[in-house]
Amino acid sequence: MKKQLYHNEKLKSLSEMAASISHEVRNPLTVTRGFIQLLKSPDIDEEKKNNYLDLSLRELDRAESIITDYLTFAKPHEDVELELINVIDEMNYVANVMQPYALMQSVSITKEFFTSESYILGTKKHFHQCFINLAKNAIEAMPNGGKLVFKIDQENRMTTIELIDTGIGMTTEQIERLGVPFFTNKEKGTGLGTMVAFSIVKAMKGEINVNSKLNEGTTFTISIPECVKNDAT
Ligand code: ADP
Ligand code: MG
Repeated sequence: MKKQLYHNEKLKSLSEMAASISHEVRNPLTVTRGFIQLLKSPDIDEEKKNNYLDLSLRELDRAESIITDYLTFAKPHEDVELELINVIDEMNYVANVMQPYALMQSVSITKEFFTSESYILGTKKHFHQCFINLAKNAIEAMPNGGKLVFKIDQENRMTTIELIDTGIGMTTEQIERLGVPFFTNKEKGTGLGTMVAFSIVKAMKGEINVNSKLNEGTTFTISIPECVKNDAT
């Protein structure tokens, strides 16, 4: 099943998302606060106590994942200035950052770079956030290990970055719902990773395609207009 994404006319910019995200982070914090308050009560039995502690930890983990998917790198309120991004350097950076997570899940990351130089216009931090979110999903789609390829190519003044995994793949319905805020198929998912990635690609005037087969794997293809080094200076 192959699909071009951007169905999403409604796709919000990173800063427009801020309001709904802070709401989503506030919820688990409020819930956790409630449990801690209950834990203060003197006549609480051991079983209840453990239950409240487990629930609090789960809620705090949730708040943490939301922040990770949304603003590990990107500061949405920052006045972002466009910069020249060296695609090779920054994808090397992303591959390095993802290495420990990949190792933990027995995933090997391979790089196939078919160009030695390619520049685009964007914000480095957003670029990192975008590809880390996509790579994280790819790794999470391979619970029994597998292969993740980062491929870079260029053609007709476009840079093409592909993330190819050998994971569980997606159904047509799952592909349709990619990028829909808070839609997740994971027990501890946020449903924010792809939405954030898509809005960053859109801001770089790029395009995303996804090709996926159940139980075989998924390829995300991101094409972004190239910038000749002099364009930006
Ligand atoms: P989350 O990862 O928190 O669930 P995302 O927005 O990052 O939220 O992803 C939404 C859903 O898209 C995931 O729950 C998963 O089902 C699906 N998905 C995204 N990338 C892949 C992939 N490479 N392989 C399989 N499924 C994927
Ligand atoms: Mg994700």
